[in-house]
Amino acid sequence: MYNDLPKSASVVQKYGGTSVGDPQRIRAVAARVARYKAAGWDRIAVVVSAMAGETNRLVGLMREVNPTGDHRTKAYDMAVSAGEQVSVGLMSEALEAHGVASEPLLAYQLQILTDEKHGQAKIHSIRTDFIENAWKNGRIPVVAGFQGITSAMEITTLGRGGSDTSAVALAAALKAGFCEINTDVDGVYTADPRYVRSAQLIEELDYETTLELAALGGKVLHSRCVELAAKHRVPLVVRNTFGPDEARRTRIMSFGEEKALEAPVVSGITLDEDVAKITVRQLPAGNAAIKSIFSEVAHKEINVDIIVHDHQDDGTVNRVGFTVQKHDLEPAVKAVESLRSQSQLEGLQVATQTNLAKVSAVGLGMRSHAGVALTIFDALAKNEVEILMISTSEIKVSCVVPLAQGKKAAQVLHGVFFESAK
Ligand code: ADP
Ligand code: ASP
Ligand code: MG
Repeated sequence: MYNDLPKSASVVQKYGGTSVGDPQRIRAVAARVARYKAAGWDRIAVVVSAMAGETNRLVGLMREVNPTGDHRTKAYDMAVSAGEQVSVGLMSEALEAHGVASEPLLAYQLQILTDEKHGQAKIHSIRTDFIENAWKNGRIPVVAGFQGITSAMEITTLGRGGSDTSAVALAAALKAGFCEINTDVDGVYTADPRYVRSAQLIEELDYETTLELAALGGKVLHSRCVELAAKHRVPLVVRNTFGPDEARRTRIMSFGEEKALEAPVVSGITLDEDVAKITVRQLPAGNAAIKSIFSEVAHKEINVDIIVHDHQDDGTVNRVGFTVQKHDLEPAVKAVESLRSQSQLEGLQVATQTNLAKVSAVGLGMRSHAGVALTIFDALAKNEVEILMISTSEIKVSCVVPLAQGKKAAQVLHGVFFESAK
């Protein structure tokens, strides 16, 4: 139970795909919500994802009907957002079965207003009056995650894993006491426990580290959700839906200066297996070509991650390589190739590589500790992991490695920072 939280506070409880993966689990979640309501927390809003595997099934159907289509369209969002609608209906009914009155709500009813970027929309605002009304009438609102609506009433989706973001955006709009992300692991671990068996639960994290962990491939939280939580100072709790121990969880909040200074050098290791690289050769002299390439790619709304370039002594760039997510590879290549219509760029050569992964170490303590990058390079070299690209920031070091060596690289780095004799 929420010992520190007054019963007048509102709470958003989000339940992910596995947690609502079958009717028994939906009933078990409803029983948990009912227990909190019976204990006096009346202002609970429930956000649900599609049942496990359902969104993948819908995306697969879209690909089958149009294998080469651009899936950032209104038709795509219309189809793939449907899984959440089913979950809302089922959860609402399960709550009724547990004697709890509920109010099923889709994005259009709550006016979860987003921009028009289909497949990757950002939330602008959410109306809270439907939620307040539901509470006034003694009902628990059950909200569809992942979906939004444009001002022209078109359905949008927030990007894969986006129900976390729906929950935090709702918590921010409601000024909730906190947002609880209920999932299939006990919280945020030092690495993905699926392939790093010795990964440990992290009890407390600051927003900044969590954002890097999420953005660099730690799939447990959607990175936009952490961004929103940080911006609106919404405390986050990540926990196991069916974990018996309510105290076993990760709490995510802002760290004061003193606490930040005590943060570990490395808090976690992430692995991103969704990495593709484009290499462009035969660039003409001068820097104009490089500007044209990145402005063309940006124009297509494609996020570029790591960039490397070779330049000659006079500063002229003759080769540039950059990474993007795999689904952006084809549009990025098309964007670069379109530059060949300009006479001075007609000789551009474009090569691609998709068998890549990015392993990263993240920690606030890197700010005050030198040598982390060296430790990483040394450990990867000793274990014969090939480093293809490197990128660093104040609180992270990332290395692009061959996809086949990605898991091994993550295990090696986890061993160095969390398992070596202290
Ligand atoms: P949900 O359907 O509840 O949203 P997700 O599958 O999106 O759940 O996220 C939970 C999964 O994230 C876990 O099963 C785990 O394998 C994976 N994961 C990746 N990195 C981490 C990490 N650092 N800590 C915990 N889980 C992680
Ligand atoms: N159902 C969506 C997905 O699978 C959103 C989510 O689960 O967060 O990506
Ligand atoms: Mg998720």
